[in-house]
Amino acid sequence: MADNQQAVSVTRDLFNEVMVPNYNPAQMIPVKGEGSKVWDQDDKEYIDFAGGIAVNCLGHCHPAMVSALQEQSQKLWHLSNVFTNEPAIRLAKKLTDATFADRVYFANSGAEANEAALKLARRWALEEHNQDKQQIIAFSKGFHGRTFFTVTVGGQPAYSEGFGPKPGAVEHVPYNDIDALKALISDKTCAVMMEPLQGEGGVVTPDAEFVKAVRELCDENNALLIFDEVQTGFGRTGSLYAYQQLGVTPDILTSAKSLGGGFPIGAMLTTEAIAAHLKPGTHGSTYGGNPLGCAVSEAVLDVVNTDEVLNGVKQREQWLKDQLSAIGEKYGVFKEVRGKGCLIGAELSEKFEGRARDFLLAGQEHGVMVLIAGANVIRFTPSLIIPEADIKEGLQRFEKAVAQVAG
Ligand SMILES: *Cc1c(COP(=O)(O)O)cnc(C)c1O
Repeated sequence: MADNQQAVSVTRDLFNEVMVPNYNPAQMIPVKGEGSKVWDQDDKEYIDFAGGIAVNCLGHCHPAMVSALQEQSQKLWHLSNVFTNEPAIRLAKKLTDATFADRVYFANSGAEANEAALKLARRWALEEHNQDKQQIIAFSKGFHGRTFFTVTVGGQPAYSEGFGPKPGAVEHVPYNDIDALKALISDKTCAVMMEPLQGEGGVVTPDAEFVKAVRELCDENNALLIFDEVQTGFGRTGSLYAYQQLGVTPDILTSAKSLGGGFPIGAMLTTEAIAAHLKPGTHGSTYGGNPLGCAVSEAVLDVVNTDEVLNGVKQREQWLKDQLSAIGEKYGVFKEVRGKGCLIGAELSEKFEGRARDFLLAGQEHGVMVLIAGANVIRFTPSLIIPEADIKEGLQRFEKAVAQVAG
């Protein structure tokens, strides 16, 4: 062990001394993961229903990912976009083959993929139409990342306030409210951005007619439809992308989180005609399309985009929903269990309103990691291949946590 590693005792208290206080992580520090299990510094085991916030789609340290990373790490780590590289081209080819898209732009995160999508939409509107076509419409409680543009398009004003003047011409309407969109959209609308199932906003499923009506309104007003599939994408809802089950095709789609399975990578997918507006020099990134990230993502795609895994996601949805509903009934804690695939939300009943974090903390005590989505929803975004036995064991632990909070 290196001297500098020996000298410091790594504790949660030290976090508070050396980190900017924008996060409030758990007291325990995880040190190892395998599949859907994680161990902390004291070797305590946890079943992982959090999945790194819908990122670890193949669990921890999946052999296909480990070997892709190791192999690539001995060939080439980084070039910048002054040069292209084989993993990036291969991954782009596979993504375009598997979706509506003809062209891919690689970024390093969901926010960056969305930033690229929004800038592209504005450039498209300016070049294809006119300078008055700038309005971006998005939805209340939507989440699109934390850069200033994306957080402004996101539907939680609290996240974008207090940082000075916001990017303009961004407006919001309630999700699933087609009349509100109809009243606002016009030929001045450049794009409508939406999640095809709101994740951070509380695991809110769109009505099927709503998504179709959004597409129609975009078409009638010559506006682009941008699907933010950062959370719903890469198998999460049981198809490679959620749009493939909705009967609606977007003009631009963004992907991240599960795209890298734990390696930071983002992507924006679009058609040839729209992509043509990002000419050389209009946008870019030093790391975007990095060979390590693309090699890992390609390995993830090869595993995820198979009938076996995608059908398995639907099976896991049923297991999770059935067992969570049973827990909800037994203890009277849930108003509704909802979501799709391995993106499940349990909304708390009135008696427990605002207490989602209490359940999350009790879960950690009992050896299970869950997430929240707002103060009223407990969120489950496990690995897409979490074994049935781990779901059972994890939910038994979760039931103990529920009994503790409800008792
Ligand atoms: C997580 C998330 C983002 C932001 O992704 P980052 O990688 O954190 O920048 C954007 N959109 C949606 C729908 C997300 O769930």
